Amino acid sequence: MSYQLYSHTLPSATPGTQRILKAHHFGEAGARPKIYFQAGLHADEWPGFLVLNTLIKKLIKADEEGLIKGEIIIVPVCNPIGLGQNFHGYIPGRFAFSDGGGNFNRNWPQLGAKVERIVKDKITGDVEENVQLVREAIREELMALPELTELQGMRKTLLALSMDADEVIDLHCSGEACMHAYVAQEFEEYFTPLLSLMKSKVALSELDTGALSFDETNVSVWRHLKAHYAHLMPWGCRSLTLELRGENDISHELAEQDASALMKYLTYRKVIKGKAPKIDPSEVAFFPLDAMDLVKAPVAGIACFHKELGESVEAGEVIGEVVDVMADDVMQSAYPLIARANGVFFARFQRRLVACGENIAKIAGHEHLAFREIGHLFED
Ligand SMILES: [Zn+2]
Repeated sequence: MSYQLYSHTLPSATPGTQRILKAHHFGEAGARPKIYFQAGLHADEWPGFLVLNTLIKKLIKADEEGLIKGEIIIVPVCNPIGLGQNFHGYIPGRFAFSDGGGNFNRNWPQLGAKVERIVKDKITGDVEENVQLVREAIREELMALPELTELQGMRKTLLALSMDADEVIDLHCSGEACMHAYVAQEFEEYFTPLLSLMKSKVALSELDTGALSFDETNVSVWRHLKAHYAHLMPWGCRSLTLELRGENDISHELAEQDASALMKYLTYRKVIKGKAPKIDPSEVAFFPLDAMDLVKAPVAGIACFHKELGESVEAGEVIGEVVDVMADDVMQSAYPLIARANGVFFARFQRRLVACGENIAKIAGHEHLAFREIGHLFED
């Protein structure tokens, strides 16, 4: 048995309160490949909680059978700060109330330049040695990060658990959506087996999002170093953000389906012993992130969608409407929601009362859209 459960206590933000992160560890520490999973960084996104709970049960069984070869770390509830934002039953969970108040999945520390300063005179022709060198330098830089506030403590702990992983899989969800993923362009081919097993037919391929999200942070050091040392520096870490459908797509059936797919993936990557699953990549499609149309509400009111999630749409097509319930002329109160991309309508708001200008639907397109600005591809 290798299974270990660790509790990490965060700095107390107010007298009498204390939050913890629980990390479930499987396999020998330092065994490879190492895969890290977390869920709920946006604390209003809960499908990953049940998926990881189900995955942990399966891994405990696999561990008892001696099947775990690599290392797996799972933080099923990774943002207890956001989860604590409970206002009479409503949990916003996406933005911090303290420490600058930003989106919990933006502006994570970028360590590339600092790590480069440590390793630059030590890089050799031995690629494996270089990986070790960089991982040690990352650890050193992580130790130096501040942990005065609760949020700093949480970020530092999550990075310390994940930064030396070969793969980082961050579980999120959308309001209402099909299964989809955000994948760095460099990793499209690498993660196709995972997307195929998860039946994720839409994958948004990222360039520079400008978001400095958690999953980008994990690879940012390697991306920075690869720009300088090319083939001497392999990808020491690959990561992606997996969007587990919509907020309310939570059931034991879906969790079982997703956790089983993740177990197959761990077998495929030889983290778990077993027969490798068959991969059918034919249904996985990549769409450039700057070709993703964010459809904005043209007016405040009630949104109604005519198209179903997963349907193909064409530029110029009406996918729904917003009804201006304050219009003087109720006969003329419907404003159309018009697609600007040819592609797949894959995500939309869950709330039907919308503010003017809110992004309420997403269409994955193939052709780059001139109004989408590289470096600012996420607007919230
Ligand atoms: Zn999210």
